[in-house]
Amino acid sequence: MKLDMQQKDRVAGVLVATAAGDALGAGYEFTYPRPDTVIDMIGGGLGPFAPGEWTDDTSMTLAIAEISASGLPIGYGDGLDAVAAQFVRWYDTRPKDIGNQTAAVLSVRPASAAAMRQRARDIPGRKAGNGSLMRTAPVGIAYLDDADACVAAAAEISALTHNDPQAIEACRLWSYAIRHAVLYGSFDGARLYLEGASTDVAEYWGALLDEAEKAETAAVFDKNGWVVHALQVAWWAITHTDASGPGHLVDALEAAVRAGGDTDTTAAIAGGLLGARWGASAVPERWKQMLHGWPGYRVDGLTELALETATNAVDR
Ligand SMILES: [Mg+2]
Repeated sequence: MKLDMQQKDRVAGVLVATAAGDALGAGYEFTYPRPDTVIDMIGGGLGPFAPGEWTDDTSMTLAIAEISASGLPIGYGDGLDAVAAQFVRWYDTRPKDIGNQTAAVLSVRPASAAAMRQRARDIPGRKAGNGSLMRTAPVGIAYLDDADACVAAAAEISALTHNDPQAIEACRLWSYAIRHAVLYGSFDGARLYLEGASTDVAEYWGALLDEAEKAETAAVFDKNGWVVHALQVAWWAITHTDASGPGHLVDALEAAVRAGGDTDTTAAIAGGLLGARWGASAVPERWKQMLHGWPGYRVDGLTELALETATNAVDR
């Protein structure tokens, strides 16, 4: 598969806009910005983070991307083990911010994907957090040549830390939508995924997308630490802002942050799909120059890494 220039821009957009959404939302995490609050890359939040610094969402995203960029298939075998090892490597840097479920899994430093998956299974309680959806974007570009492999890898990588069926299904749907947006420049992938899914999945998630599209306010999705509400906030932001041009990317990211709650994560999730649709070129230059975080990339590095992540589809 050969990608044209617009598709390559959209490949880069997946990582650049994930990082931009994350860094934009970081300063507002667990707050509910007032209507007159200016939304910008102010830093702060739980880290506290520097202005333009991304958080755990993007760091884990990049951990996955780096393995795909190395040429390994990330959905099984050695590649999946390598993703698990990257997560542990990141955990060992004592990140400023980490989700509860992810911390519980990584704290025992599982030595393989199988051990990590088992650890995730063994943790009791409610486990449908948004911590695997927030990092699923690179799966959408790792398998541009194979939709089924994309969806399968999204499930396997979610299950490393989040084995709940809702978390897994959300990762499948969003990764598929990102892949579709990169290839075809539309948001149709979310619905197309459901057309090919089982009746149960199609009915459950189709109703959730409907609900997000119809809601007047994102306040109804206020439990957005939960993967379902996190996806709904992202979809609400994307479908409640003017999608007629690339300015949509900024408007929708801001809308996701204004929805409040887990703002860095909902904006990172939205950013993955918005970047896939509108490309890195739609991310404001000022934001691009501010972006930084673990493991040390700046915007040029994110762009290069994205193209390498899509290595099986990019003619280099
Ligand atoms: Mg975060």
